[in-house]
Amino acid sequence: MTERIPCVSEGCDNMILPATAAKTGGYCMPCKQEMEREAHQRYIEANRRDVDLYEGITDAVQILKIMHEPRTYNELIRYVPYKYSMEQVYLSLSGEQQHEMKLYAMDLIRSDDEDGGKDILLYLVCYHDLPLTAEIPELLERDIVYPAVLFKSASGETRNHLIQQVNNDEGNRNHLLMMLAYIGDETVVQQFWQWKQSAPDWASELYVAPECYTLQAGWELTEDGQRRELFITPSYSMYEVGGSDVAGSQSKNLDGVPISLLVPNSNFCPWCGSSLISLMNLHVKHPALQSVDWKFPQLDVQTCLVCSSYSVVYMEMDAEGNAIWSKHNVKPDGLGDIDVEEMSVDILGIGSSVLEVGSFAGAGERLAGIQQQVQHRLFHIATEPRQPFHGSEWDMEPSLSQVGGHPGWVQDADYPACPACSATMKAIGQLDGEMLQENGEGVYYMFACEPCQMTAVSYQQS
Ligand SMILES: [Zn+2]
Ligand SMILES: [Zn+2]
Ligand SMILES: [Zn+2]
Repeated sequence: MTERIPCVSEGCDNMILPATAAKTGGYCMPCKQEMEREAHQRYIEANRRDVDLYEGITDAVQILKIMHEPRTYNELIRYVPYKYSMEQVYLSLSGEQQHEMKLYAMDLIRSDDEDGGKDILLYLVCYHDLPLTAEIPELLERDIVYPAVLFKSASGETRNHLIQQVNNDEGNRNHLLMMLAYIGDETVVQQFWQWKQSAPDWASELYVAPECYTLQAGWELTEDGQRRELFITPSYSMYEVGGSDVAGSQSKNLDGVPISLLVPNSNFCPWCGSSLISLMNLHVKHPALQSVDWKFPQLDVQTCLVCSSYSVVYMEMDAEGNAIWSKHNVKPDGLGDIDVEEMSVDILGIGSSVLEVGSFAGAGERLAGIQQQVQHRLFHIATEPRQPFHGSEWDMEPSLSQVGGHPGWVQDADYPACPACSATMKAIGQLDGEMLQENGEGVYYMFACEPCQMTAVSYQQS
């Protein structure tokens, strides 16, 4: 048997064969590989160059085309990001430029980049509510059936065609119902009402009743077959001033006014003992709330951040309009078994400005700490409204935090029922989990029932 010899690396105890040593200069394979990795790293650092694909380009359409271009990874190139986000560049487009982008998207779809083309159309529809009435027949011909929001501007003719197709096209039925929900005109409302009155044969093959698809598009049928909106408009973006998150970087270009967000108060959650927090507190005269019938001067949406991430948390208003824990709240099974302190860290993250919200000990001290931290944060609400569907497509990473507008559901649409009157509660706004903590996930959704003067908060995790 050949005698093994030690690796020549200082501090390495590995024994190697003389044959290996002859090949590696005396090093064991792990040491040899580590040295090669380091050398490669030094080479990259010495030779990597910055590439600014946007240098000298000022036309927003050109900039967006570059942004959408797929980039092959090359470790010797570091692409300099553009000074504004894709969302900001889209928002800056003139009507003519939107048209130009739409033509470009259709060209991509006709060539070989269907997904790239669809992405562009999605941004144009959500950020500018650009109608695709003329393009929709071609999309359908090419078997493009989602995202459903693209189809909301379909013509009456296309809509009739889609209604027919639902009956025959089993494979696409799910998508077709979603499209019809987004179209949502009077004919569609009547059609869903008919399906509700008398379920079609194919209804049993769906996971939910046909009329439940309307929820995905933000409306429902009333008892007498009318369309009832499930989110309020207009919509205004909310963001942290000087924040490093997506929404915050957005703010550099936006005029805004201060808004009270994420303010902890002196009441505690009866389930977990955390300080309740006012997610959003807005004067009812704010134009975002023009369609909301609220009896008190402020619409104050309070909740327990810990518990609302497990279950819908309802709040009622007392005679003075102060938010109080609702007697209708039902503690979810299993919540009592969860270690709140551990859970709060899990949910709120280390280094978060609201980190200590969930722990039981030292409540007073903790509250003071949170208030001090929150005082350093400044939130604004935009002075101009944005499109109702701006924040609705969660996975295209728009700035999510908003009052009003279609919710950006992470999962399926899930509007809570008011526990007092059982009506579906209306979405009144949402906060991006990132706003609550660094690297925060998911979205907190806010709802209201006007007749009962109740609010609700729920959460969906990404
Ligand atoms: Zn070694
Ligand atoms: Zn709680
Ligand atoms: Zn109610």
